[in-house]
Amino acid sequence: MTASNPTDGAPPPRVLLAHHLRQLKLPTFLREYEKVTAEAAREGLDHVRFLLRLVELELIDRERRMVERRIRAARFPAVKSFDTFDFTAIPTLNKSLTLELARCEYVVARDNVITLGNSGTGKTHVCLALGLAACQRGFSVAFVTAAGLVHQLMEARDEKRLLRLQAQLAAVKLLIVDELGYVPLSQIGAELLFEIFSQRHEHGSTIVSSNLPFEEWTSVFGNQRLTGALLDRLTHHVHILELNGESYRLKQSRARRQQAAQPARVIADLEAGETSDR
Ligand code: ADP
Ligand code: MG
Repeated sequence: MTASNPTDGAPPPRVLLAHHLRQLKLPTFLREYEKVTAEAAREGLDHVRFLLRLVELELIDRERRMVERRIRAARFPAVKSFDTFDFTAIPTLNKSLTLELARCEYVVARDNVITLGNSGTGKTHVCLALGLAACQRGFSVAFVTAAGLVHQLMEARDEKRLLRLQAQLAAVKLLIVDELGYVPLSQIGAELLFEIFSQRHEHGSTIVSSNLPFEEWTSVFGNQRLTGALLDRLTHHVHILELNGESYRLKQSRARRQQAAQPARVIADLEAGETSDR
């Protein structure tokens, strides 16, 4: 009789291991363990070091997956970072404050950030980069435009799910509201947006970007009292980033046009040079 063998009839250990690792949600462990086993044998690693190496791989991968999940959940229109941001192009922007904000201590403190400046100066880029930094540091983020947010809120209100949406928006650690000021809001829209800022006040950080100086925010909200109350909350603990200057887009397209014109000019210069030499 072979019944004395306890493994008889049981699935092979590798199959069981794969099954258990899947159940424990350790995909990297599963993917890497054969390779690490071979490495351990080659390098003469003891069991503890072997396990440690596998566990570390799983941890690193899990962190990466979580950052990716947070980035997807944030719904950024594009993923941008400070690595691709040229601070010399916008001297009015306080570089050291901006990079300090990228460390996300303001998120822990539940402070707000307001980026102000004319169109094309990099406000959205800075908002996206701060949002990305927050995702990388483990904070939940939501990115919306002011008009988009108001639209979402009105729709939720009509469909009687406003409370749920408000709760979701209140729960994220960092809410980024881009482009406040491009579109004037309806009375209801302004009140709904005010409520969001109010609910987040001292509970979570909000970043707002606007092309309008504070004095002109009343034109967006259509109501001086509401604007006053909103600014009061938003600017209670706030870091202000000013981006005033020439539009980066315009500057870039001008540079491109000049570059495109360059070969023609070089030829023209050469020809002029040749003729004058003769
Ligand atoms: P705004 O939101 O202020 O209108 P954006 O952030 O949309 O401006 O900037 C316009 C474009 O120029 C974007 O593609 C952005 O990535 C780029 N850009 C703006 N400023 C800079 C900068 N200082 N360095 C690199 N790219 C920039
Ligand atoms: Mg923008």
